[in-house]
Amino acid sequence: MATIRLLPPTLVNRIAAGEVIERPAAAVKELVENSLDAGAKRIEVTIVEGGKSLIRVNDDGWGMDRNSLLLAVERHATSKLPDDDLIEIHSFGFRGEALPSIGAVARLSLTSRSREDPSGWSLEIIGGEVGTLKPASRNAGTLVEVRDLFFATPARLKFLKSTRTETEAVVDVLERLAMAHPLVAFSLHDESRQRLNFAAANPELATESEATIILNAQGQRLAAVMGGDFAANSVAVHAQRSFYRLEGLAGLPTLHRATQLHQVLFVNGRPVKERLLYGCVRAAYADLLPSNRHPMLALFVTMPSDLVDVNVHPAKTEVRFQDTAAIRSLIINGLRQALAEAGHLASTTGGAATLEVLQRNSQSTHRTIGFSRGWSPRTASSTELRQAFLSQSPAVDSASRVIETPGSDFAPNGAIPVTLGDLSPGGGAAPDYPLGVARGQLHATYIVSETKDGLIIVDQHAAHERLVYEKLKLVMDHDGIDRQSLLLPEIVELTEPEVEALISRRDELSQLGLVISQFSDKSVVIREIPSLLQRFDIPALVQDLAEEFLEFESSQSLREKLLEVAATIACHGSIRAGKTLNGDEMNRLLREMEVTPHSGQCNHGRPTWVELKLSDVEKLFGRT
Ligand code: ADP
Ligand code: MG
Repeated sequence: MATIRLLPPTLVNRIAAGEVIERPAAAVKELVENSLDAGAKRIEVTIVEGGKSLIRVNDDGWGMDRNSLLLAVERHATSKLPDDDLIEIHSFGFRGEALPSIGAVARLSLTSRSREDPSGWSLEIIGGEVGTLKPASRNAGTLVEVRDLFFATPARLKFLKSTRTETEAVVDVLERLAMAHPLVAFSLHDESRQRLNFAAANPELATESEATIILNAQGQRLAAVMGGDFAANSVAVHAQRSFYRLEGLAGLPTLHRATQLHQVLFVNGRPVKERLLYGCVRAAYADLLPSNRHPMLALFVTMPSDLVDVNVHPAKTEVRFQDTAAIRSLIINGLRQALAEAGHLASTTGGAATLEVLQRNSQSTHRTIGFSRGWSPRTASSTELRQAFLSQSPAVDSASRVIETPGSDFAPNGAIPVTLGDLSPGGGAAPDYPLGVARGQLHATYIVSETKDGLIIVDQHAAHERLVYEKLKLVMDHDGIDRQSLLLPEIVELTEPEVEALISRRDELSQLGLVISQFSDKSVVIREIPSLLQRFDIPALVQDLAEEFLEFESSQSLREKLLEVAATIACHGSIRAGKTLNGDEMNRLLREMEVTPHSGQCNHGRPTWVELKLSDVEKLFGRT
């Protein structure tokens, strides 16, 4: 029989270290959280070799007196669970594990002075051996130095990554903690330079960014960490559902990134792993983004502490919710609502990019209007061009009507009334419409409108596609789609797999107003069509749908499939690029965009409009 024995404390601590401190960034996280728990207002972090050879954390918190210092390095010694209550946890720490764990696998030195004491003390633990307390002088607060992390556990040491990778992980950890603590100043230095420097946000100071988002302290810090671009191109999220509250900033769908790195979730101020968040974000942005792109966002969920268990894992980066479904719907609905309220907003970076292109061109090819580079012009016939410059906007149709039948409102209209008077500035000082008053159409593709302080270029097809799509969604959700039968059923020739794919999804299609049945192995017959689409080339649509169905993965949810179908229908039902619009039609489109959710981007996440401020135009002409 094998003998059972108790493991020596150093070994216990090394085992614990394996879970709590998996890499330098985890040690940084534990130490900085300790500083935050100690009420620090300024936290300075230094790392060498990505934290592998040195991590130094200096804070101005309330520090530790002599006895506390001795206790702090004992396992399960904590000042943070005064009532032994694992439910009411308001601090980052509570397990009393971090310092003894780090001390067991590294050379740890602590120097601290409590606010009440005239001078401080220092203590070392090397590979689990606690040294003797020595007097030390320093300001109130604590300095922790960790040298040669994992020197005592060579197996772990082998798994550390390159200095660059470990440094990135430290940066990431600090950024997240900084986001949740805007009133605390943070800095990070490595051997070569300062990597981060976040001044304490000023709650009094409400800066107005370009997109006129008033940045409170939280917003200032998010802007500092995630970039001014993010702050200017995001919408505030506020939602409440029973005990749960959601706050934060959600990036506009037109501001997207290749990875999910810029999606962060905080639960009661604690940065947590985001699996739940990713799912919610995918659902909320589902039809706003191309599938391989990801929005940027920072969300803060708060709830009474008895509704969440933070004691799931020693590293405390995972939490368990009592009611995950409630959190999920809070986040999804909160995001959807915020994005819907953003309405026609599109990322301002479009305008900035436009300006850059224009400026680049005006510098290199002086006096040449350089629309050809950086833009993708569609070819327009000379007739279209002439029309483009002749067409202009008559009086504004201020009633923002719902587009009853896509297409019908934009019926071909050869006769474009032109009076020069309407083009003069007096002919209509731009009223205060967010998307301005249409002043003309370029290349039968772009609507140019005048706003209070600039001009807007709208991609008419992308914009209208979105409007039709949003309307289809509404109709789909509420009354199903109105359909009408064809007097002469149409037969569409397809391939066998296409016929199969279409027929297998017949029910979905009829929900969308398209009734088809199989005619032969290689053809289907169209019996009823959505009334919305009576003027469209239905056989072509059916062909498109068949091709799309063949590509769909079977795991896609029904709703997603329907939306995909709706998107295809919307694309077919939308005014094309190359279609001449009169002023009325253009203005109606603009007004419609202003009241339609998500109209700032097309179904593929591209902006539907860009704006140039007058000040930008002035820059182009060197007027400022
Ligand atoms: P926990 O944070 O779970 O309590 P730690 O091992 O991280 O466990 O820290 C042990 C104790 O040491 C803390 O409870 C706290 O009282 C004290 N401590 C650690 N770091 C600091 C610090 N920077 N300032 C003040 N006290 C600290
Ligand atoms: Mg701790």
